[in-house]
Amino acid sequence: MNVSVVLFTSDLRLHDQPPLRAAVEGPRHVVPLFVRDRGVEDAGFAAPNRLAFLADCLRDLDAGLRERGGRLVVRSGDVVDQVCKVAAEADADEVHLAADVSAYAQRREERLRRALEAEGRRLHVHDTVTTAVAPGAVTPASSDHFAVFTPYFRHWSQQRLREPLGAPRALRVPDGVGSEELPVRGGRSRVSEGLASGGETAGRKRLTAWLRGGLAAYEDRHDNLAGDATSRLSPHLHFGTLSPVELVHRARRADGPGAAAFVRQLAWRDFHRQVLAARPDAATADYRTKHDRWRSERTARDDVDAWREGRTGYPVVDAAMRQLRHEGWMHNRGRLLAASFLVKTLYVDWRVGARHFMDLLVDGDVANNQLNWQWMAGTGTDTRPNRVLNPVTQGRRHDPDGAYVRRWVPELAGIEGPAVHEPWKLRGLDPAALTYPAPIVALSDGLARFRRARERD
Ligand code: FAD
Repeated sequence: MNVSVVLFTSDLRLHDQPPLRAAVEGPRHVVPLFVRDRGVEDAGFAAPNRLAFLADCLRDLDAGLRERGGRLVVRSGDVVDQVCKVAAEADADEVHLAADVSAYAQRREERLRRALEAEGRRLHVHDTVTTAVAPGAVTPASSDHFAVFTPYFRHWSQQRLREPLGAPRALRVPDGVGSEELPVRGGRSRVSEGLASGGETAGRKRLTAWLRGGLAAYEDRHDNLAGDATSRLSPHLHFGTLSPVELVHRARRADGPGAAAFVRQLAWRDFHRQVLAARPDAATADYRTKHDRWRSERTARDDVDAWREGRTGYPVVDAAMRQLRHEGWMHNRGRLLAASFLVKTLYVDWRVGARHFMDLLVDGDVANNQLNWQWMAGTGTDTRPNRVLNPVTQGRRHDPDGAYVRRWVPELAGIEGPAVHEPWKLRGLDPAALTYPAPIVALSDGLARFRRARERD
């Protein structure tokens, strides 16, 4: 009997799923496998919001496989041990896996290849499953990756993408391969109240609605905080319940400036992945150091606590931080403002902020999170590393009526219009009567500290 194991990782879908399609082709039996990987948990990446979303994804994947005559096999432990064990139980001669970029994923692939080869089995690794364009497919003449987005995007845009694959119609799973129970959502504390539902079915529904109702206005409205006019597809891209190749194709078919702006954001995702693939240490080390002597979590404890809890006294920053806690997701403009405030105004180490985001974000993703934090800290790929976002002017620009602040900061719900961005200026209001805190730092003081620190070196 010819048997293939398909190891699902960040590609929890049936549509446009190259490893699964390769495995079902020919007269083969297939074991669709997901390993609850102890290595991921030990590295601290098993945040409650992502575990809850993952549980939805696995249930939905299992249901989709069952409709096609199959089922999902779930195991827990060390991923390499478990794959080898399942391959031996099923007498499989090959394993299919999607390529991924983090140091952990690269090590996992290497360990798996060696272990399987030692047992006479083959590992097939598939590109363009978790990215639209594979890392390394486009490179500048002098390096193994692009360090600046604009030239990368020019090359990326000229790449011919493969056609998306349909979901398999049927598959056969060999008898006798046991599975653990599927994990369930809930029962876990600290899951955000407003967390979105996971799974390919939910993802495809959101995608259809987005292409019909949101995409056309994306270019004009994507920065409007209260408008909430972005796709919210990031958790589906992170868990791979949607395929980036399919998304680019479908957006391009829709055409227009909204589609072009959206495709450009998808290219940013690939851009960060090709940086991390080439420089996996950028997950923790400065990509381009400025020799900052950041304030640490310990030395800036009160400021960091205020930032995490959304009580810095800067309404748009606090609104964003409270959205993060409530939904496990934050608007991109909010992420930029919250990050700029922590690293440039409070001059706190970007890793402190990145860690907090990773603890809560349902789309928390090593490539996108760490490299966006580095971009904002000026240690990453931003060509203007000393850029600072002023939370008052940015609030007035991207939340012009103040509705986003009023939605997330109930203490300020009674203040009408854009005045909500500077509650300290309101005449006739006794500040002591406001339950909302005064600013924890004057913007000019915070920025002076940042400039002094950067000029020192
Ligand atoms: P849309 O605006 O609809 O964009 C579509 C897709 O494009 C997104 O789903 C995402 O996959 C990609 N994208 C958009 N903006 C970016 C970007 N700046 N960089 C890379 N890809 C992008 N994104 C994550 O997926 N995971 C993270 O952990 C993450 N952490 C971030 C931390 C900071 C400090 C900042 C500034 C940004 C971070 N982002 C992260 C990028 C971006 O904020 C989110 O991808 C976006 O807000 C998700 O919402 P959306 O799906 O509605 O995006």
